[in-house]
Amino acid sequence: MNNGMRMTEQRALILKILRSTKSHPTADWIYQEARKEMPNISLGTVYRNLRVLAEAGAIMELDYGSGYSRYDGNPENHYHFQCQACGKMYDVDIELVHQLDELVEESLGAIIHEHRLEFYGICKDCQENNH
Ligand code: ZN
Ligand code: MN
Repeated sequence: MNNGMRMTEQRALILKILRSTKSHPTADWIYQEARKEMPNISLGTVYRNLRVLAEAGAIMELDYGSGYSRYDGNPENHYHFQCQACGKMYDVDIELVHQLDELVEESLGAIIHEHRLEFYGICKDCQENNH
C-alpha cells in the first residue's frame, strides 16, 4: 500500500488501532484509543489521518446515512449488517461480492468497479436479550 501516502507515526498508530478491532468504530472511539499511546494527539489529527488513509484505500469509511461515519480496517469490499437496536455493525461473510459484479456486467455490458449492499435488522445478541 503506497499511493504516495507518507506514513507518519500518528497515521501508523491510527491504522494499527483500526486493524486490531472488528467493531467498525467511530472517529471518537479511535481518538480515545490513540490518546492512550499518544496523549497529545488531537481529534482533528485523527479525522485528517482517517481521511488520508481512506483516500489511499488503506481503510474504508462507512457512511450509511447515520449522520456520522464508522471506519473499517479491512479495505476489501465486503458487506455489513447494522443492528437497528444496538447500532453495532457486523461483517457479513458471504462470497457474493465478485459474483454480483459479474452478473451486473453481463446484464448491462458495463464494467463494474464497485457496488454497495447493506443489511439492517436485529442482531443475535439483541434478540436474546429481549426473550
Ligand atoms: Zn444488536
Ligand atoms: Mn467490515
